[in-house]
Amino acid sequence: MLILNNGLIVNGDGRTAPFTGSIVIEGSRIAAVGPAGYTGGVGDVVIDAGGRLLMPGAVNPHAHAVAPGPRFASGTPGVSVEEALGNLRCHLAQGHTTVVDLDGFKVPEETALVRGRQPVRVESSTIHFEPMFTAADAVDGAGLDDVHRATTAQKMVATGAVVIGEVGAGMTLGGGGQDYMYIPAALEKATGVRILPAQAKALKYAVLGRHVRPGSPDRQKIADLLRQQGLADLIGVDTVITLIEESVLPSFQVALDGLVASADLALELGVPTLVHNSAPSDEAAREAARIAKELFIGGHTNHGTFSSEEAVRNARWIKEQGGFVEIDTFDAWGRRELHATPEHLIALVQEGLVDIMATDYAAGHWDGMFEMVDAVARVGLAPLEQAVAMATGNVGRALPRVGAERGVLKAGLLADVVISAPRSPAEVCCVVIGGEIALARDEFAAPGTKARTAAGSARG
Ligand SMILES: [Zn+2]
Repeated sequence: MLILNNGLIVNGDGRTAPFTGSIVIEGSRIAAVGPAGYTGGVGDVVIDAGGRLLMPGAVNPHAHAVAPGPRFASGTPGVSVEEALGNLRCHLAQGHTTVVDLDGFKVPEETALVRGRQPVRVESSTIHFEPMFTAADAVDGAGLDDVHRATTAQKMVATGAVVIGEVGAGMTLGGGGQDYMYIPAALEKATGVRILPAQAKALKYAVLGRHVRPGSPDRQKIADLLRQQGLADLIGVDTVITLIEESVLPSFQVALDGLVASADLALELGVPTLVHNSAPSDEAAREAARIAKELFIGGHTNHGTFSSEEAVRNARWIKEQGGFVEIDTFDAWGRRELHATPEHLIALVQEGLVDIMATDYAAGHWDGMFEMVDAVARVGLAPLEQAVAMATGNVGRALPRVGAERGVLKAGLLADVVISAPRSPAEVCCVVIGGEIALARDEFAAPGTKARTAAGSARG
């Protein structure tokens, strides 16, 4: 057995106040969680957590590029197995013991390439239905081949996909992928100059606005931006308007149609739909929430296209329909290039509207879920047990296929546990997945100092 003694247990159910106690793990599952300490028997490994936090491993319901195969709802060519494994190492270091790959065009054979080669549990999703293929082809689709196109959502759910998603992701709805991939690429082709994501976003807003409504570009603003970005002599205002419209608009309406269609599919298949929730998709997301009810998850409801007020209104609507509200870390604590301000997060948590957390991709610079837990709990936006539940037990409720086995520290469930510094959930010291130590830092990394066998202690 593996025994984690003397920890401050936050069990992930969102209700139980943190208490000092132990977790007993037998094989891959939790055998007991309680206030007592255990000495263990011969052959048991006993770890003194030294008052550190013992929490369920985070269940990340919204990740990308954690397996090879087409990326995003745009069917963009994917990453290599090596890059996917590298991304999974990052997730592990952040305490995410389960990640849901929301690149919904992948097939089980692709996900199989990363399972078993590293410890993080990788779950799959599906968007193998029309009009998602049409939307992907309108913006990219280069990563899709016959095997992806021949797969159906029904087949994927039968082989274990836990969610429909990500429906209408960034590129197809004029979101982040346009800012860091397609618009910079289109402008580079025209001018020879590669602009930054923030610059592409500013131009996109000047051309189409936050809600992606063509027809009233802010020409003065576009001219100013081109001057600031050193492009004024290389490209005209009209050409920029055309380039950005041609990059963003072809997939737009069909992606919105797919978003609403996913709600009916969720009801048919009995798995939730996780949609790209943002200002441009606000109305379609509301319609999908009205249809799918508790099978609806509003992905990154703290999206930067919303104003705080809009995000709160959208979240309130989702909750009234019985759906789940997700907020994402993006790169809000580290790089801060795509998503710099936490104001939506604060507004949504303060209003009691947040159910679950996730990372999303943020061009590969996503921050950890426990950083968000830390931020929420540290300033008192929510009690620690509620903040932890947003990354663990609540995700299990939103994704019943995952929650049946994970998300809460409870006898009988899988032994996925994160040990963090006493007052800082984000400072992950040790990660246990399925009863095995998958990552160990600080004194946990040196065997014999904190982890000891009961036989060893009898000698000492
Ligand atoms: Zn996403």
